[in-house]
Amino acid sequence: MTAGTATASGARLLEGAPIAAEIRAGVAADVATYEAAHGHPPGLAVVICGRDAPSMVYLERILKTCAEVGIATWTVDVPGEDAASQDRELGESIRRLNADAAVAGIIVQMPLPAGVRLRTVVDAIDPMKDIDGLHPLNAGLLRLGYEGFVPATAHAAMEMLSRSGVRIEGADAVVIGRSPVVGMPVAFMLTKANATVTVCHSKTRDLAAHTRRADIVVVAVGRPGLVTGNMLKPGAVVIDVGINLVNGHLVGDVEFASARDVAGAITPVPGGIGPLTNALLLAHLVRAAQRQSPGASAG
Ligand code: NAP
Repeated sequence: MTAGTATASGARLLEGAPIAAEIRAGVAADVATYEAAHGHPPGLAVVICGRDAPSMVYLERILKTCAEVGIATWTVDVPGEDAASQDRELGESIRRLNADAAVAGIIVQMPLPAGVRLRTVVDAIDPMKDIDGLHPLNAGLLRLGYEGFVPATAHAAMEMLSRSGVRIEGADAVVIGRSPVVGMPVAFMLTKANATVTVCHSKTRDLAAHTRRADIVVVAVGRPGLVTGNMLKPGAVVIDVGINLVNGHLVGDVEFASARDVAGAITPVPGGIGPLTNALLLAHLVRAAQRQSPGASAG
């Protein structure tokens, strides 16, 4: 193990900001090269379908970071008087953006409002512009172990492990959560990196029995305090993907105070996976723009 600051109790704090800053610097250089070659910067479209407060904060951060690294952005508000018309408009907005050559990548605000379907996004989005890895082509490429666009948050969890020098090969890993955007992609990527992976979910009978055996625990559930120190193997690496608002404060799914006494390394919330997700999404955008440029080969 290498990078990371030690917490008072000894567990290494795996902070996202320094890694994110490195990634952003690379993105800014790639944006400048792209703009010099094509006469315009790569463009990101952000589709907003509701006004979910935490996700608006997340999107505003993405827009700010885009401005910092020179990526052009468009924000598209999806109109609609009710969920059905909004669902229809969402599909049409995405298809219009697919056809717009200035737009290299599209992201859609999540979670979608009640009654607006993820399936609409999945069906409409051009896989070449799907920088958050939702389209079945990208999900399938990941499943088969080929290169495509993977969800940025899942990518961030893997990048945190590898850039922190955590040995994945041969490790027993437990992923808590099996969503298509975080849990399952992380499980596939860990498997590809030669970890032995157990996926836990809401019907798992004895969660602690699994986590206590794990060298690496990735938690992506959305329940504050779900994982406590006494559920961890001493020295385990804990990646907390959860984002929860509790009494006006952002917290993860892991009870940080008890977990840091047992873990060998742990991501804080905020300041762990979040900043890395943001930076990696922009890296995906630049890759999408490069892949769509005339003469580029797919891959
Ligand atoms: P999701 O779609 O709601 O999935 C949650 C998963 O947790 C499901 O698989 C569910 O199991 C499982 N689960 C629920 N209760 C459980 C329990 N008591 N024990 C074990 N597993 C349980 O959520 P998501 O989109 O994957 O997001 C997960 C968390 O990550 C949320 O807090 C979200 O805000 C956060 N997030 C963070 C970032 C970031 O950049 N840091 C990005 C995206 C999401 P079932 O499948 O059985 O229902």
